Amino acid sequence: MSSPDLILDVLCVGAGFAGIFELYRLRSLGYSTKVFEAEEDIGGVWWRNCYPGARVDSVVPVYEFSDEKVWRDWSWSEIYPGWKELRRYFQHVDEKLDVRKDIVFNRKVVSAKWNADNDRWLVKSQDGFVVSARFFLLCVGNTSKIYIPDIPGLDRFRGACHHTARWPQEGIDLHGKRVAVIGTGASGVQRTPNIAFPMRQKSIDDDASRTMKHDVYSLVFRRRKQTSGGHSYASYPKNSSDATLEERFLFYEDLWSRTGGLQVFSANYQDMQWNQQANNEFYQFWRSKVLERLQSPKFRAILAPEIPPHPVGAKRSSLEISYFDTFNLPNVDLIDLGQDPIIEITANGILTADGKEREFDVIILATGFDAMTGGITQINIEGTDGISISDKWARGVRTYLGMMTAKFPNLFFIYGPGAPTAFSNGPTCIELQGEWINACIKDMMEKKLTRIEPLLEAEEEWQNEVLESMSSSLLSAPTSVFMGKNIPGKVSEPLSYVGGIPKYTELCRKKMENGFEGFSRSSIL
Ligand SMILES: Cc1cc2nc3c(=O)[nH]c(=O)nc-3n(C[C@H](O)[C@H](O)[C@H](O)COP(=O)(O)OP(=O)(O)OC[C@H]3O[C@@H](n4cnc5c(N)ncnc54)[C@H](O)[C@@H]3O)c2cc1C
Repeated sequence: MSSPDLILDVLCVGAGFAGIFELYRLRSLGYSTKVFEAEEDIGGVWWRNCYPGARVDSVVPVYEFSDEKVWRDWSWSEIYPGWKELRRYFQHVDEKLDVRKDIVFNRKVVSAKWNADNDRWLVKSQDGFVVSARFFLLCVGNTSKIYIPDIPGLDRFRGACHHTARWPQEGIDLHGKRVAVIGTGASGVQRTPNIAFPMRQKSIDDDASRTMKHDVYSLVFRRRKQTSGGHSYASYPKNSSDATLEERFLFYEDLWSRTGGLQVFSANYQDMQWNQQANNEFYQFWRSKVLERLQSPKFRAILAPEIPPHPVGAKRSSLEISYFDTFNLPNVDLIDLGQDPIIEITANGILTADGKEREFDVIILATGFDAMTGGITQINIEGTDGISISDKWARGVRTYLGMMTAKFPNLFFIYGPGAPTAFSNGPTCIELQGEWINACIKDMMEKKLTRIEPLLEAEEEWQNEVLESMSSSLLSAPTSVFMGKNIPGKVSEPLSYVGGIPKYTELCRKKMENGFEGFSRSSIL
């Protein structure tokens, strides 16, 4: 690789929550830090996911930075903000933290190579720019790499075809168009789900916003670190079998009608995630609610079958407002691709196994992501023995504490594999991991250490912890994104740590307190 155009202490990749948090904090500690961002603005997923209906399913203020400097004079209009409001929020973040001046946009990082002569990464971007950085932070998010199934004929389609996470910034006029949506994951639901729960969206007026900031914000930011999912609620500390049938159904009803949101599952009885019987019962409750809203017997059978398609929670549950009602509209149809798979995309539409070719003007691919690892492995990162991270992880993902991987010194990743990522609220996990990484970098800088790398045996130990956390859980069901099963050829394994935020934070803290146990640290200075 060529000589560097820029020499830095830290290079971060990605300008979403993680990259912005790291840039602001590391710069405040006095380290030369830059962010390279492939897109043209800040916001991460909220820059890319601008399809109509794209919005969070964590509530605010849980889903925001905990720094008072940012939240003090920012007010949300809804408890589940949509992408436009989230973009305005990121502009506000920039006004408060002045991060933009250290972010280079339209700069996609394509490769990096470890240089053992100077304990630095030499990082290259698509435009040929080369940086030498002591520390290399991958803040690339867990949904940076989109997944488009290999459907024959996709390139032949004469209409418009867009993946939800590559939605044109100028929008698409769908009025009067014949539209096909492929996929029923979160984006498929938001566009037009699977086992979806009622969102119970609420608007927030100025008075409510003032009251929340005064009474609730600092409490929420402390509380979210104490709950398994990094939200402000925890599972109900009682097994379903400890309650009578009537008590259970009243409880479900309460969660469903009054609370809504992800709590419908996550604040449910604590055994819901590992007790098949409890999970089945709750599925039947869910089903009765959905059947009430669907008119067509065909759609009832597909959308709410008697036998659960997977345990509740084993696929990322989606939140909905009018999803099920959509299927009562005269201009909406639903094809069960499990029954009648797509044979090919034709010039005019989609041909399915029932022999029907349906014509469309627009195809929307709500087909998801190569989640957790894709954003990292698509960069050609070469470690100490010349093997790329993609090759290392092809046989199975190994991390230490979900932040580093052996043979790749001084390389950290945030909200990626091996951490509570998929089972946690983004900003909570990002801030906790970011703080750990920053303390680690600070300690190294102060001690003039130039290299930190996890030991292979520590990595194995962590892998066992990750496996054990998932072993008794129903969340490892077939086709679960949590296991990487949505991507053909990907090793089926738990990609996130299910042990919860408090235990994770405690384990990370102990490793640091024990003198960075499980790491080797050295200096060439
Ligand atoms: C539609 C949608 C809704 C979501 N809703 C929620 C929610 O309600 N609650 C929740 O907790 N999480 C949610 N998430 C998950 C989301 O990833 C996190 O909330 C959060 O955005 C993660 O922030 P991040 O900074 O880690 O990553 P991101 O926001 O994904 O930002 C990563 C950035 O890195 C950039 N990048 C990637 N690769 C490169 C490269 N090679 N070179 C340069 N730049 C690169 C990307 O362009 C992107 O801007 C949602 C995700 C999606 C897609």
